[in-house]
Amino acid sequence: MIGFRPVTRGEWLYTKLVELFIDDQKALQSAVGTLRGSALIGNRAPEFADYVAGLYCFNLTARLIKTAQALIAHDAYGEALYRSSMLSFLANHCGISEFRFGRPNINALINLSIEAAFSSGKTISQSVKNGVATSKQQCYCYICGIQIFVSGELEETSVQYEHIWPSSFGGDSIIENLLPACPHCNNAKGSMLLWQDGPVHSFILPPNPSANDITTINRRAKIAWHRKAIFELAISRHTTLKEAAITHGPVDFSASAPVDLDDASDFFTIHF
Ligand SMILES: [Zn+2]
Repeated sequence: MIGFRPVTRGEWLYTKLVELFIDDQKALQSAVGTLRGSALIGNRAPEFADYVAGLYCFNLTARLIKTAQALIAHDAYGEALYRSSMLSFLANHCGISEFRFGRPNINALINLSIEAAFSSGKTISQSVKNGVATSKQQCYCYICGIQIFVSGELEETSVQYEHIWPSSFGGDSIIENLLPACPHCNNAKGSMLLWQDGPVHSFILPPNPSANDITTINRRAKIAWHRKAIFELAISRHTTLKEAAITHGPVDFSASAPVDLDDASDFFTIHF
């Protein structure tokens, strides 16, 4: 699998983890392969295999960045001390050793983790904001499509600058990682990294859901669905997430339909 094109430090780290654990046929390959072909979880096996693989890479990405952030925050950053701390974290807490994965891969993980940690939480400069919302007056939320205003007086329709790869996980504050969003979507998305850490597991509606049932689907679940579509598009075309988000367009929150009217709808069978 060729992944999406990374542009931020956090994405580079994530991409390396996917390469090591999913694409490079190592640790998770057999487990995910077993899940993918399993009849034990009904006809959701491919979706659950992607779900588990994504959760694993999300979890590792987040733990490596948070650990590196903690080292930096405690002034433990010094080439030798940092490297030894991360080496022991990888080996003792993640089961990732030099012996198993090779020194170049371990060095890459350590370097990418510290770079992602340093990139996190940076403010967005005015020149970057100007490059993201190119119109001085109005633009559209890339998630829900509503019109928002660059210098709006109403808080609910004022533009926010949304990190497509979350700032807290090494998402740089650069034009290539930012799109205009409305406050509702920006707040609901929060630091959602992958669709897999959205409210996916609890998303179940009755068969042939009524209009009222569909209104119970919250914005965060819809954002997870949108995010899944963006990632799949970016991976299939090997573009950046931002390019894929623009190509895909926003979610039509008013429309949603389950694929199989006789089956209870879950995250994988309802489309917006
Ligand atoms: Zn929105």
